[in-house]
Amino acid sequence: MLKGRAAVITGSTSGIGLGIAQALARQGVSVMLNGFTDEETVQALKRELGALGVQVEYHPCDVTRPEQVDAMVEAAVSAFGSLDILVNNAGIQHVAPVEQFPLEKWDAVIATNMSSAFYGMRRAVPLMRRRGWGRIINTASVHGLVASAQKIAYVAAKHGVIGMTKVVALETAGSGVTCNSICPGWVLTPLVQKQIDQLAAKKGLNNAQASEDLLAEKQPSRQFVTPEQIGALAVFLCSDAAAQITGASYTLDGGWTAQ
Ligand code: NAD
Repeated sequence: MLKGRAAVITGSTSGIGLGIAQALARQGVSVMLNGFTDEETVQALKRELGALGVQVEYHPCDVTRPEQVDAMVEAAVSAFGSLDILVNNAGIQHVAPVEQFPLEKWDAVIATNMSSAFYGMRRAVPLMRRRGWGRIINTASVHGLVASAQKIAYVAAKHGVIGMTKVVALETAGSGVTCNSICPGWVLTPLVQKQIDQLAAKKGLNNAQASEDLLAEKQPSRQFVTPEQIGALAVFLCSDAAAQITGASYTLDGGWTAQ
């Protein structure tokens, strides 16, 4: 169904973005990977995904830099001939109370998690509109819907992503282009491992105990969401069955936001 389509997935050298890239590649989608990593990892990922029979490219763009995002979109069009799917997924976290939140961390979290999606969408929308088909998926978070203490920049950025998703959905409605947000709860990725490490150090726990504590506080299922599950949702949102789903926010959170 998606065979021959082309996708750019930001922040896809690890975690959720990689899960989405793998799921799309399995459906025959050519993928442009992006993220901060070393050459060895890039080559290994290219081999792994290329073995699925799709074209795999990598662009080292820093998504906080609009001119670099432009260059990545141009590189995708020149490599694949089109850009059909854009997944704005790159993200970072910083945890601190409001009065101690460093200004440079605020700027970095807002730029990486929110402004980057605007930079990508403003370039992708005209390309998709011209072809009468497109799928934009923004990795928001449960923190786009509810808050947690000590995450002021992340919560602001993710609420912003959900707002931008609705705007782009309205502006593209009826054009064959859809724009939706995915809102995961806890997913065990490097971004969350850092928070588990901090909790373990603070409470004197081992890794397993700290993971259990982290889940127990917010996620009623007490199980991590997996990048594979998020990849499967992304594939569904790219399918024809999802053609009328736009402006929506999909939670995969083990019940976090049901409370
Ligand atoms: P991760 O650390 O495994 O992946 C983040 C990716 O973003 C990496 O590839 C990294 O290199 C890339 N990246 C960071 N800054 C970048 C920049 N300036 N330019 C280009 N690439 C950059 O983390 P993850 O957990 O997979 O996070 C992916 C997304 O999912 C983020 O937007 C995050 O907020 C969101 N999210 C994560 C969770 C979770 O529990 N892990 C839950 C909800 C939402």
